[in-house]
Amino acid sequence: MAATKVSLKLLIDKKSHRVLFAEADNKFVDFLFSILTLPVGTVTMLLQEEKMQAGCLHSLYESVDNLSDDIYFRPDQDKDFLLKPKVAISDARVPLLLPSVEQSYTARNFYRCVQVNTGSARYSNCGKYVANDWRAICPHCKSLMYTELKYVEYRPPRDIKASSSSEEGYVKGVITYMVMDDLEVKPMSAISAITLLSKFNVMDLGAVEEKVVDFGTDKGVKLLKACLQSKTVLTDVFLTAETTITGESVKKKSVLVKRRRVV
Ligand SMILES: [Zn+2]
Repeated sequence: MAATKVSLKLLIDKKSHRVLFAEADNKFVDFLFSILTLPVGTVTMLLQEEKMQAGCLHSLYESVDNLSDDIYFRPDQDKDFLLKPKVAISDARVPLLLPSVEQSYTARNFYRCVQVNTGSARYSNCGKYVANDWRAICPHCKSLMYTELKYVEYRPPRDIKASSSSEEGYVKGVITYMVMDDLEVKPMSAISAITLLSKFNVMDLGAVEEKVVDFGTDKGVKLLKACLQSKTVLTDVFLTAETTITGESVKKKSVLVKRRRVV
């Protein structure tokens, strides 16, 4: 079972009130990278559920939601295909740091027609069909397709040995990563940390604070929203967490003023 909470070490410049970078292990990086696999409909649904909005996507989403199924949608179409799209299938198990998408991550089962097992020539064409839900009807014999199949992901031959290890996710677990405020991810090194302090013009090392924080599903949604509209995602999630959506722009402005004073 993948983790639902991970730890991060933040390096915060208290003077400019910003997160310089986060030191993270593979689990947090796996979560960040998994954002790229989310359909736009899933992202909009998650923000909608948390009463957050990013751009105009919520209008589009609500339009689909509000249009009557019976009157406007074709009878063979399900609105949930748009409102709750399936996340890309992968066997890389990543931390579940977003609510409501768990099922999609673990749904790797497929089904075929029950008549396939009978061996009868009459049903020989049934084996050509596969379904992603046991309630599907076989196009050949019209039976239910509830014989379960297991999904197998193709791996290039060089990776077969590695796949037998207990590691999960996308990136290797032995490396510590550096996640910048704009979510740039790179391997951690002492040199890059020092270069960064100089790049950000951090003159007063006494104002730099290390803080270990927990990151769970509540912060996961906040990060999802922030990365759609901000270049200071970690600062927004961890240092302005107490602000509401309506108060956010005001808070950001005051942070900017503070930063200008420092520079
Ligand atoms: Zn069949």
